Amino acid sequence: MGNLSPLPSFAAIVVAAGKGLRVGGDTPKQFRNWRGKALIRHSIEALQAAGADPLVVVVAEDARGHAEAALSGIAGLQFVTGGATRQDSVRAGLETLAKAPPERVLIHDAARPDLPREVIARLLAALGEAPGAIPVLAVVDSIAIANEAEHMAGKADREQLRRVQTPQAFRFDAILAAHRAWDGPTHAGDDAQVLMAQHGAVALVAGDERLKKITFAEDFVDQGTAPAFRIGQGFDVHRLEAGEELWLGGVLIPHDKGLAGHSDADVALHAITDAVLGAVGEGDIGTHFPPSDPQWRGARSGRFLEHAVGLARARGYAIANVDLTLICEAPKIGPHRPAMRAEVARLMGVGEDAVSIKATTTERLGFTGRGEGIAAQAIVLVTRAV
Ligand code: MG
Repeated sequence: MGNLSPLPSFAAIVVAAGKGLRVGGDTPKQFRNWRGKALIRHSIEALQAAGADPLVVVVAEDARGHAEAALSGIAGLQFVTGGATRQDSVRAGLETLAKAPPERVLIHDAARPDLPREVIARLLAALGEAPGAIPVLAVVDSIAIANEAEHMAGKADREQLRRVQTPQAFRFDAILAAHRAWDGPTHAGDDAQVLMAQHGAVALVAGDERLKKITFAEDFVDQGTAPAFRIGQGFDVHRLEAGEELWLGGVLIPHDKGLAGHSDADVALHAITDAVLGAVGEGDIGTHFPPSDPQWRGARSGRFLEHAVGLARARGYAIANVDLTLICEAPKIGPHRPAMRAEVARLMGVGEDAVSIKATTTERLGFTGRGEGIAAQAIVLVTRAV
């Protein structure tokens, strides 16, 4: 870490009064576990480590218990009850601080847990030249303006646009006065807009991608206890019969026999699907697509695999690679390998280099050797998507 140079003194307000409904669940997201501890605890600890004092936490009336549990053991916090809007909540925090006004204040959203000290340092330094300072990032995508029909109505110049993060830093007197004077729309987008409405200059300093807002359920896998890698294996057999189509790896292969079974009996995709489900502990293919359910009769097995990959994704995992072995005497797999590889890669949403397809015979031994059926085994590695 090196020596940390001291920062100017500052107070902080962390706004945690939102309901966080987009994540789902009964507990507002800011109090749920993320990387081993409550989401809000991350930014509170970062602010305290940077010297924030006093530190005000604004929570909804009925969430006070959640907040105190999430922040238990942290000394020196002041809890304040929030208002109907984010702006009301910030105002409540500012009025609390106004009893002993600090020189500078940082206003932060609890949903941005990863708060680098360098950003705090840049913000506080910028208050030397402006009453407000906010962290921003460049816009890298081109920007389309949509009309009501969801057609493109124009473009915006991304060179002029910035993505705004929090914390936002202010000279305390200026932001308190601006909030008290606010007569704009009920919902200010953020505190910088409130300051600007009173003609206060807002300096833009470099933000940090780590400050991203945690919004969706996928962000919420508990990455503190979830391992970086998980692995699963799958095995399947189907009978070869005359008069059936032969689907292997999502590809229809010309042959005098085909595989029998529920769905299209694609033994390769079934083995891979089970490997994906195994990697994330989601049961097996029969759990999700019971053979007794008529809706899966004749179904394309690609749907099963796509569903399994979606489940892995929802648990915060991306597919790293898959290795499949087909075990049969005939047909010859080699000529069909490129098409199967491309289709498996497409179904799993990965590049073809992440898909290996191998084949072996069993030297005419056993049911595969006698041409009575085809077996497949697969192994899949998944990695934590950050
Ligand atoms: Mg099967």
